[in-house]
Amino acid sequence: MSATSNNYVPRLRPLRLPRVCVVVTGSDPEAMIEKAESLARDNTFLEFRLDYLAKPALAFNKLKQFSEYHPHIVSVATCRRATSGGKFRGSVASQLDILAKASAAGCQLLDLELQSAIQCKASQLERLRSRAALILSSHNFRATKNLDHTLEKMVAIPADFYKIVSTATTLSDNVVMMKFLEKHSDKYSLIGLCMGEQGIISRVLGVRAGSIFTFGAISEDEKTAPGQATAQELRSTYRIEQVDAATRVYGVAGDPVTHSLSPAIMNAALRRETVNGVYLALHAQTLKDLLACIRDIPIHGLSITMPYKEAILRHLDNTDSHTTKIGACNTVVRAQDGKLYGFNTDTAGVVRPLEQRITIPEAKILVLGAGGAARAAVYGLKERGAEIYILNRTLAQARKLAHSVRARTIKRPDLKKLSFDVIINATPVGMGNTRDSPLNQDEIKARYVFDMIYDPAETRLLKMARAAGAEVISGIEMFVHQAARQFEIWTGKPAPWDEMLRVVAREIEDRAAKTASNNSNSKKN
Ligand code: NAP
Repeated sequence: MSATSNNYVPRLRPLRLPRVCVVVTGSDPEAMIEKAESLARDNTFLEFRLDYLAKPALAFNKLKQFSEYHPHIVSVATCRRATSGGKFRGSVASQLDILAKASAAGCQLLDLELQSAIQCKASQLERLRSRAALILSSHNFRATKNLDHTLEKMVAIPADFYKIVSTATTLSDNVVMMKFLEKHSDKYSLIGLCMGEQGIISRVLGVRAGSIFTFGAISEDEKTAPGQATAQELRSTYRIEQVDAATRVYGVAGDPVTHSLSPAIMNAALRRETVNGVYLALHAQTLKDLLACIRDIPIHGLSITMPYKEAILRHLDNTDSHTTKIGACNTVVRAQDGKLYGFNTDTAGVVRPLEQRITIPEAKILVLGAGGAARAAVYGLKERGAEIYILNRTLAQARKLAHSVRARTIKRPDLKKLSFDVIINATPVGMGNTRDSPLNQDEIKARYVFDMIYDPAETRLLKMARAAGAEVISGIEMFVHQAARQFEIWTGKPAPWDEMLRVVAREIEDRAAKTASNNSNSKKN
């Protein structure tokens, strides 16, 4: 009998499997069931990782009670052996026994890895399948390769679902996984995704390529696979239940991107404006990988961050003259003709907050730094008639920038003699801590001090500026304005500025609280 004709999917289809299966672990049965209970209200699809328990057999009574009490919940039982990447150290026979008992306790799906299945007799697997639907699974913890070949081996064993999990080491590996899903999902009931930080594309978009569902963790601290997103992120941030063929894909590309605030702010904006789109963090270790991925997915819009803001320029079909002059692009849009156009919205990020406070023409503005962000600020403000002074650690860089826009450079000793309408910090000094400042207290003589750094929200420079009686503008404002401009370029809609600001401020606050709590825990230990 072929794997397809043997499929149990019709039996499960009326249950309408949700797209996110939440993985439940626990050090003992009580802890595991307690977690399941706390999830039961908002999650109807759970995977019990019985291999995380020292004695899985002790869980069945509680599992049965849980299933009886929550008949609406579909559950998967998994008891992955250590040799296949799990924690269970028993034999294949005891693994089968545990799965059989888990089905008797109410689990409707049983996950068995290929390595175990090939050691079983057909009759043993048939018995298991007579009790519950079988997910035959295969994991590659190193790479994404030979997917067709792996599936070929798997379908020789009748099962209800075939789950293929690989590891993405490049963004393009997601493309490989999704093409694989598209090719075979008509014939087989597949679950496919790539693990690893770079696998997020397949975790979110795999469902539209043909994966029946994907997996989400309960929380940041309880991830069971590298790169796993939390169920909450998959549903609220990425709105995975709504992802369909028309969903436009956006992302922030750079190296690193793990701590980028952009997915939070952009997905919130897309949701608020009811744009059918999803925004992902794309960890691109090379520009070549990123470009290949942009074409294949295809990606509609990108925020470009370090280290590709300059290098991306020569790969774009066009850029506006402003971006060409700045020599750095932080926004890419794919037009209807498929061509890639580049923009720089950091300028809007600097100009918009200042426009709201001062008359830019003829304002006397000091810019600290001469890198990409400083260039965006200097060009944008000069274009609007400001009088610009540049101070940079490397004088030659300051001179080069000043020469290109007819601005002036100054040397640090001259600072004490000068005062400005605005001082803008476009260096990373003060980032990540509150001790460093690019200026000393007696060098701050300005009405406004604008720090481009947004983490921390209140840098040492801003604290000193307040003490000097200046008004301060935080990098958060710049971040939101440049993101809002990106949103407008991509969607043609006005950005929900207030919502974006709220999301970023909350995110930064949460991170600060988490860091403080980690620090205090590490001191206690
Ligand atoms: P960049 O191109 O690497 O330029 C960095 C600039 O800072 C250079 O001029 C460099 O001087 C100077 N610099 C670096 N380390 C320094 C130090 N220890 N002391 C004094 N000067 C130093 O970086 P960028 O892309 O322009 O970004 C600059 C800052 O703006 C970063 O903190 C970034 O996070 C922030 N930013 C914020 C936003 C936002 O939305 N809020 C947007 C863009 C950028 P040399 O020429 O001597 O190397």
